Amino acid sequence: CGAARDNHETSPKKDDAPVHGLSNMIVGVLGGGQLGRMLCQAASQMGIKVMVLDPLENCPASALAYHHMVGSFDDSATVREFAKRCGVLTVEIEHVDVATLEMLEKQGVDCQPKASTIRIIQDKYLQKVHFSQHAIPLPEFMQIDDLEGAKRAGDLFGYPLMIKSKRLAYDGRGNAVAGSVGELSSAVNALGGYGRGLYVEKWAPFVKELAVVVARGRDNSIVCYPVVETIHKENICHIVKAPANVTWEIRKRATDVAYRAVSSLEGAGIFAVELFLTGDGQILLNEVAPRPHNSGHQTIESCYTSQFEQHLRAVVGLPLGDPSMKVPAAIMYNILGEDEGEPGFILAHQLIRRALGIPRATVHWYDKPEIRKQRKMGHVTIVGPSMSDVEQRLKSMLKEEGSDCQ
Ligand code: ATP
Ligand code: MG
Ligand code: MG
Repeated sequence: CGAARDNHETSPKKDDAPVHGLSNMIVGVLGGGQLGRMLCQAASQMGIKVMVLDPLENCPASALAYHHMVGSFDDSATVREFAKRCGVLTVEIEHVDVATLEMLEKQGVDCQPKASTIRIIQDKYLQKVHFSQHAIPLPEFMQIDDLEGAKRAGDLFGYPLMIKSKRLAYDGRGNAVAGSVGELSSAVNALGGYGRGLYVEKWAPFVKELAVVVARGRDNSIVCYPVVETIHKENICHIVKAPANVTWEIRKRATDVAYRAVSSLEGAGIFAVELFLTGDGQILLNEVAPRPHNSGHQTIESCYTSQFEQHLRAVVGLPLGDPSMKVPAAIMYNILGEDEGEPGFILAHQLIRRALGIPRATVHWYDKPEIRKQRKMGHVTIVGPSMSDVEQRLKSMLKEEGSDCQ
């Protein structure tokens, strides 16, 4: 690893830490993106120290972290060096060097959630196999290794067919849709070919996408946040509505699937469960994130305990907080890059200025050094007395763009 950014005179060492007191807890986070940054914000309120490991010198968490080690969370020597300085190790991204985490666990390093969980989740195919073995409802799926296999899957599941990369997927960047057998090859090529490791999923005919953020403490206690609706645009989370406008029965079913899915994994922390709701009322699991998640950002303003505070409570072994909403309705809008460079920043700042003029809207800007199209640059949360009230406010924030909030 290269340089380090230390926001304090001396960098923390595990050995120096007395055995009690929140400010002596050093939580090491693999990754220093916006999730790491918001973990640092929650940590500062509780006097917990957060160290981040991220290759980018000016990553979003860098300025707020107790210490930033500049290096790769996918490099064994770096992760081992980082772990020496932390009381507990956690992640804000699942694409980390899991073999090293497994080795560290054997040596007594405290990883939360457990490396076994990260291993299952970082490979979406393995994740699907795991959840199907635990009787969690999922879209049907199968591995594909060549065109013959892809055609067999198409015959079995029909079209459109969702083709997914097993690993290193985020914001839909590992997904491609084949509308017909003739589109299989181009969809596979768009993902980098069969050699990348692909599988297919039957198309989920969803009427809504839902998500449930679940927290598990070190004592295995579990609490679930209210079910939210997530609205994606081009595979990227665009808007989150809390609570989801679904029946009591659907809320119960979604929470039950999320609870059972998380119960099948090991370790403490926040887990976000992405779900499909089909027209006939079925709940299917899409995927689980073993960390705070975009579908829980609004909890900062809308719930008694934000997902970030909850994650810290969980991994350090504090009692879990109340996940319920303290306002009737909240909406989260992602600020995505609309252009590269200076023009992109100008557009984003225009949106932020409008958001700041909306009562009960809170702006979060991640301070990323570069802007790119479709990159998550920040978000806005609006809270209010009803969903129609917050939707109205979102509309007025967006009206100069001619966008709609669905
Ligand atoms: P994330 O940023 O949430 O990690 P990802 O890159 O892992 O995203 P997925 O969650 O697999 O991607 O898929 C992104 C979106 O694509 C989903 O939220 C959903 O809108 C759509 N999608 C995924 N799988 C299916 C499916 N089987 N049928 C229909 N739509 C799907
Ligand atoms: Mg994903
Ligand atoms: Mg997803």
